Amino acid sequence: MVQVKNSVNRQVPADISGQERPIRVFGRMMKKGLLAHAYLLVGAPGAGKKALAFSLAKLLLCEKPYLGEDLPSPCGSCAGCLKFEHHTHPDLVILKPQGAMIKLEQIRDLQRALSFSPLDSQRRVCLILEAQKINLPAANALLKTLEEPPGGNHLILTATSVRGLLPTIVSRCQVVHCEGLSVSALMERIKEKRLCPSDSAQFLACFSEGSISKAMDLIEQNIFSVREDLFEFLKSKKGKALLMLLVLSKQISNKRENILLAVQVIRTFLRDLMMLKVLKKYDRKKPKEHIVQTLINPDYVNELQAISHRFGSQDLAEYCQWLDKVEWLLDRNISREFLAESALIFWIRKRR
Ligand SMILES: [Zn+2]
Repeated sequence: MVQVKNSVNRQVPADISGQERPIRVFGRMMKKGLLAHAYLLVGAPGAGKKALAFSLAKLLLCEKPYLGEDLPSPCGSCAGCLKFEHHTHPDLVILKPQGAMIKLEQIRDLQRALSFSPLDSQRRVCLILEAQKINLPAANALLKTLEEPPGGNHLILTATSVRGLLPTIVSRCQVVHCEGLSVSALMERIKEKRLCPSDSAQFLACFSEGSISKAMDLIEQNIFSVREDLFEFLKSKKGKALLMLLVLSKQISNKRENILLAVQVIRTFLRDLMMLKVLKKYDRKKPKEHIVQTLINPDYVNELQAISHRFGSQDLAEYCQWLDKVEWLLDRNISREFLAESALIFWIRKRR
């Protein structure tokens, strides 16, 4: 594996569940000899772009890949696969931001590396990770390579969105959208990895936007204790809630991310309370199991039912709008303490 000036990432993610469709399309193109020079994998952070990029690279560098009807896959035992696994494949080039950006010098290094024939394989694969961070001179330099890479070279770029890239870069690549896992598939993964108790897996899966790595990040951020504190606040009587408001707002105002997380967690409770109201109105005969399945916080169903009468649907809708405003103001240089209190106080003001 070739390093482009300290740009190499030694971790090869193996997790490609949810990316079967693009892998199939890629395999078909490979079989027909119709591969594009450059692919751009686009998706939200944690949607699995990097894992997909690595697995496509491995498929390309395998000497005997399986390209049949089932999911295309590398053989796992040829010299190419073994070198890939051991991070020693000389025809795998990985480029990622140095500091905040991908710089011109890195693209120049890449161009020099690509000007030689592949060393081991018929082809060389170049991964450009987080391509949305490419600066303008580097992007302009890359255009020529994308248009006409020297023979035998394939480029695979990943980016969180096409908006951060020059349109001329996007138009030279075949764009592949990575959508991440469905809630039910993600729940299975969360349970397999035992990230949380199984009755809380639905909350974590709904919150993680199709990404197992986001689910793991949320665990690092103590998402469950944040949720517990906020719910304790939401269900408390007015006097206690006022006392808790001071402690909680101080806790969450230390970082922008913490306020954002709290806002998102409160939104899941509001959404569940609305859901319970709708179901109570139209779905009286449905068993409790059915209700539980529709909630983001099914493990709190009894307590949510117990407090749902305290708020009208209109109040809940207004609280959601208020949270949207808090989220918007977070990027507008407003005091974080003020915003943290604002996010919470609405609940106390409106409760019956
Ligand atoms: Zn192989």
